[in-house]
Amino acid sequence: MESLLTFEEAQARILAAARSLPAESAPVAAAAGRVLAEDVTAAVDLPPFPSSAMDGYAVRTADLLGTMLVVGESAAGTPFSGTLGPGEAVAISTGAVVPEGADAVAPVEIVVKQDNTIQTERRLEPGSSIRPRGGDVRAGDVVASAGRRLGPAGIAGIAAAGIASVSCSRRPRVAVLATGSELVLPGEPLGPGQIYESNALMLSAALAVAGAEIVGAPAVPDDESSLREALERGLECDVLVTSGGVSVGEHDLVREVERELGVEESFWRVAIKPGKPLAFGTRGETLVFGLPGNPVSALVGAELFVKPALRALQGLSEPLPRFEPGRLGSDLRRNSERDEFVRARARTEGGAVVLEPLRGQESHMIASASTADALVHIPRGNGELTTGSVVFWLRLNAP
Ligand code: AMP
Ligand code: MG
Repeated sequence: MESLLTFEEAQARILAAARSLPAESAPVAAAAGRVLAEDVTAAVDLPPFPSSAMDGYAVRTADLLGTMLVVGESAAGTPFSGTLGPGEAVAISTGAVVPEGADAVAPVEIVVKQDNTIQTERRLEPGSSIRPRGGDVRAGDVVASAGRRLGPAGIAGIAAAGIASVSCSRRPRVAVLATGSELVLPGEPLGPGQIYESNALMLSAALAVAGAEIVGAPAVPDDESSLREALERGLECDVLVTSGGVSVGEHDLVREVERELGVEESFWRVAIKPGKPLAFGTRGETLVFGLPGNPVSALVGAELFVKPALRALQGLSEPLPRFEPGRLGSDLRRNSERDEFVRARARTEGGAVVLEPLRGQESHMIASASTADALVHIPRGNGELTTGSVVFWLRLNAP
């Protein structure tokens, strides 16, 4: 029996070929979803000054049981100029500077105000309702680490710490090319033997989520010269992803033409189902993926192999897909030779994730797979995995 690469071996070969792209500067406003090439350190203490956590009065705790004279106001952005003397208080709003001399803020709710004076019956600890300077982060501390993708909170942390632009690895430019003489665009009438193109649309969507800058092209028919021209153009990108034409048919020309164009094939075929006839190679720094034409196979190939490569090119420290434990919602027969990736819907039940395999698990059944949000890994082996078995699953459409 032929021995095929396992998907883990295939992933290792791909990651070994994927070097992170050079870094560039990106304004914080455009850095969401980008991967930091360097640690980001705070430019200022955060908060930059002792600030009030409440609306109320800045006071001296020693004076709290007496009557205090309100001598001014500290509003957000407009500090009180001066020092609080004995028996004095300053009206203060949330986020405003706590004036020198004050050691607590008495919330407005515990204070009785009369004319220009306030009183309270409560005692407060020194520091009460004051956010100390640098209590969140100090100037020079790391606020976001290299190798992480910036999310909304990361963007806010960086901006709050006074950083206007960050160093991010360049987004990979990814050529997506569907091959097949049978393909027409949705919206056109279907001629005899034709089908609608869906892979390039799917792959463009999937890979953009992972940070790719997609370079699209019209689907190319299965003839050598058209293929050569389209592949040549695609090879100018950081990554070329084709679908179709990598199987063993008469018209499966992609690998051969790529070889003529100088692509060095690293492997062809992986022990997975669906998605076995997948090819990977390189030409110079360009990574070249030949995904199978069957749409579900192409989807699985994108999740297991192309997206990890894109993450590595962007310098993500953990590029491999993150599989999480869950429980199988129905019995599944294992495949003795290939690891299977079953399309499923994930739901939670009593705090655990239950994975319901979808009906229609054949590799051409993209419409049946279209409501899937999970790929469930069923390791190769004999017999059945029964309902409730612990399995590892991958969330579809993760960045
Ligand atoms: P291939 O790998 O080229 O032999 O294609 C395998 C199957 O996938 C065939 O049924 C093709 O018609 C179908 N297929 C190939 N490319 C696409 C595509 N871009 N969109 C939808 N189906 C496709
Ligand atoms: Mg084809």
